[in-house]
Amino acid sequence: MNIVLLGAPGAGKGTQAARLVAEYGLAHISTGDILRAAVKAGTPLGLEAKSFMDKGELVPDSVVIGLVKERLQQEDTKSGFILDGFPRTSTQAVALASELAELGRDIDAAVAVQVDPEVIVKRLTSRRLCKECGYIGSESDAACPSCEGELYQRDDDKPETVRNRLEVYEQSTAPLIEYYRGSDLLVEVDGDRPVDEVFSTIQEALA
Ligand code: AMP
Repeated sequence: MNIVLLGAPGAGKGTQAARLVAEYGLAHISTGDILRAAVKAGTPLGLEAKSFMDKGELVPDSVVIGLVKERLQQEDTKSGFILDGFPRTSTQAVALASELAELGRDIDAAVAVQVDPEVIVKRLTSRRLCKECGYIGSESDAACPSCEGELYQRDDDKPETVRNRLEVYEQSTAPLIEYYRGSDLLVEVDGDRPVDEVFSTIQEALA
């Protein structure tokens, strides 16, 4: 099964992707994670990406498309993958379709997790991540509820940057919902519910 996960930043894509990966054994392709790892490692890609990410802007299409093409060549994606945070522009969506056609593969579903923007601002600005295990916690946690590791706030989860990310989402990424509706792949899910409920709805839709 090959899935595209759509939704504004903070809609819960990462959380649902982790559940889908665990349930269906899919390869998890998160462009945000790949870019953050490159920034942390200080590679040329990371240096280029950081200035865009810090402002909540999109990293140029050519860079991100190259990363995903390379990732799709890897063996583990052949038995199914979940794309989390890609595509984010119509150029990326078209490039993905043509790359998959070349590889003789298809998208089975585009799952759009919908959450009200005001809820998202609150979620993102209070989000804290574990330095050790990546657990997604909140500002009310003193330490990671999973491993006791130290929690930190992502630079791009600061209020001004969050607002910009949401604007960028509305402008560049939200139109992809119609793109996938047009190809009959769209599954729309209300993401403003407990994680388990959102996950069950997604599972039912994919069954
Ligand atoms: P995320 O973790 O998916 O919210 O991504 C964090 C940041 O990485 C975004 O705000 C963008 O700056 C960058 N990014 C991630 N995925 C993409 C993409 N598909 N296209 C462009 N930029 C991206």
